[in-house]
Amino acid sequence: MKEKLGFIGLGNMGLPMSINLLRADYEVFGFDTNAKAMEQFVAAGGIGLETAIDIAKQCDVIMTSLPTPHVVELVYQSEQGILQHAKKGCLLIDFSTVNPELNDTLHTEAKALGLRYLGAPVSGGVIGAVNATLTIMVGGDTADYKSATEIFGIVGKNVYHLGTSPSVGTRIKLLNNLMIGFYTEAVAETILLGEKMGIQADTLYEVLSNSYGQSRIYERNYMEYMKNDNYEPGFSTNLLVKDLKLAKEMADEAGVSLRIGEKLVDLYSEIAQQGYGENDMSAAYLSLKEKCKL
Ligand code: NAD
Repeated sequence: MKEKLGFIGLGNMGLPMSINLLRADYEVFGFDTNAKAMEQFVAAGGIGLETAIDIAKQCDVIMTSLPTPHVVELVYQSEQGILQHAKKGCLLIDFSTVNPELNDTLHTEAKALGLRYLGAPVSGGVIGAVNATLTIMVGGDTADYKSATEIFGIVGKNVYHLGTSPSVGTRIKLLNNLMIGFYTEAVAETILLGEKMGIQADTLYEVLSNSYGQSRIYERNYMEYMKNDNYEPGFSTNLLVKDLKLAKEMADEAGVSLRIGEKLVDLYSEIAQQGYGENDMSAAYLSLKEKCKL
């Protein structure tokens, strides 16, 4: 018999991921504090429950895709959290991007309670969540990873078991998002400067796509967002700020000074304060345009 799945955090990423599990004929129980997210999940065939405890009591595997480490702590570790209420042997898979220490702590606490835990952050954006083409960076016990390969194969495409450390995937994910921080501002600056000199953004894109300036982020930010003048997230500026702070903490701990990387936290915080926090990160372009009074 198929395992009963739980999904907590049905946002931009969690909702399409849970829908892919429903399409693969799994029974999926979902919980989100946002009523609209719950409605969409139930409309897609999911079974909505009222609390994280209800999910914990029902499910054999519980997945989470939550915005911040603080919310992950709340959902896992509070009195009403899943650690206290999950069934013995339950597998917990956290797809959220958190600080590496939190993955390690949750793994230890889960184990002490007879539960299993994998840290499994993802990359590939909303489009990757919808099309099940996500890259999944998994850390944790090999047997637990093996027991979840079917689930990973349904929600993602490039699935890496990177080792038994529960936080190894997160460390790589934060390096990825550091690169995203560099590229997103680079794309904004390049396009705006080009436009100011009379070079059309489409022409620039075509040429740079066949040059070393090409990048997946250029393709994503320009083709999916800027070209359509649509800045609905996607991946919000606020979430990027969160990840850049986590990457900076990781670098500080490793004793590595990031010459540009550490400036990115202030840069994107400023963009968020300009009013673009809830917009897709590609709104860095709008922020720069506003700053240059163009
Ligand atoms: P989101 O804000 O769209 O979704 C998070 C969901 O969690 C929301 O629906 C929110 O209502 C819900 N939530 C908040 N507190 C809750 C609680 N206490 N209990 C239950 N639900 C709660 O965020 P997202 O873009 O889907 O990102 C989720 C995670 O995935 C983040 O850690 C993010 O960094 C990571 N991520 C996002 C992207 C992306 O492109 N959006 C890509 C890769 C990784």
